[in-house]
Amino acid sequence: MYIRDVLREKETIVSCEIFPPKIGAELEHAFEIAGKIAALKPAFISVTCGAGASTANYTEALAQHIEGSNVPALAHITCAAASKEEISAILNDYAGKGVENVLALRGDLPKGIQQPADGHYTHANELVAAIKDRGGFCIGGACYPEGHIESANQEEDIAYLKQKADAGCDFLTTQMFFDNNVLYKFLYKLSQKGIDVPVLAGIMPVTNRVQIRRIVEMIGTVLPPRFQNILDKFGDNPAAMRQAGIAYATEQIIDLAANNVRGIHIYTMNKPDVAGQIMNNLSHIL
Ligand code: FAD
Repeated sequence: MYIRDVLREKETIVSCEIFPPKIGAELEHAFEIAGKIAALKPAFISVTCGAGASTANYTEALAQHIEGSNVPALAHITCAAASKEEISAILNDYAGKGVENVLALRGDLPKGIQQPADGHYTHANELVAAIKDRGGFCIGGACYPEGHIESANQEEDIAYLKQKADAGCDFLTTQMFFDNNVLYKFLYKLSQKGIDVPVLAGIMPVTNRVQIRRIVEMIGTVLPPRFQNILDKFGDNPAAMRQAGIAYATEQIIDLAANNVRGIHIYTMNKPDVAGQIMNNLSHIL
């Protein structure tokens, strides 16, 4: 089922993200994780693609497996490291396997490289346009409430986002953020620029202080003082950090739902128990 149709059915949807294994031997375990998350009945499950498209085969296997459990899969495709011909072959594979939703991404560039090689799509808007031209897919794109790390400023980033949305995005999913006001201001700016596709808010339940510090440094997300205090106080106590991380994410989601955000996308980090507790906390809310 196309995610754009799922979005029409409910006021606020909840979806989950998982990542594929790095080696084939771990695929069975990834199937198990996907099965547990599918049992939570999210609106869809997205499957990331490793940096440089390194896990593309496992992304495909996992997405196909998810489709088999009657939950729509959203397969991430990155174009920086794949030629146009390779992208075309990947899309044909997905179409043949019944995966009809894709998140069209440029992907991160290797250190020291300024832009993708000749014969590759340069930015995600070109990939979106190519998928739209091909037809047969519901297309998502990424967006950044605090600006993409390579952007000179947010205005420029939103101008490029408008190009990407106009190229054929059916919806957008945000990078993680920890202060809902950042999202509300961003959504206002998108509406001012005429970007009117549904935006799904990316929420990361943080259960590991070291991991989140590494991630936010890489992507440039700001940790608000309230959340920083939680990390400082509970970061050395895994059980307490887990409980506090789930509570913080739950609170963020309840506030987003109360403010009519169209979708919540949970970055599960392959932890079905964490996603399950959050879903349970929302059972009468969403
Ligand atoms: P673009 O939309 O191409 O934007 C990249 C930068 O270029 C931005 O600074 C933008 O302002 C600028 N820009 C855009 N268009 C133009 C243009 N026409 N001319 C000049 N500049 C332009 N990475 C992975 O490797 N695998 C994944 O599975 C993955 N999943 C993700 C899921 C989500 C929801 C998000 C938010 C990110 C994900 N990423 C993933 C990370 C993403 O690949 C990186 O953030 C990457 O650096 C940018 O990808 P993009 O598709 O947003 O690129």
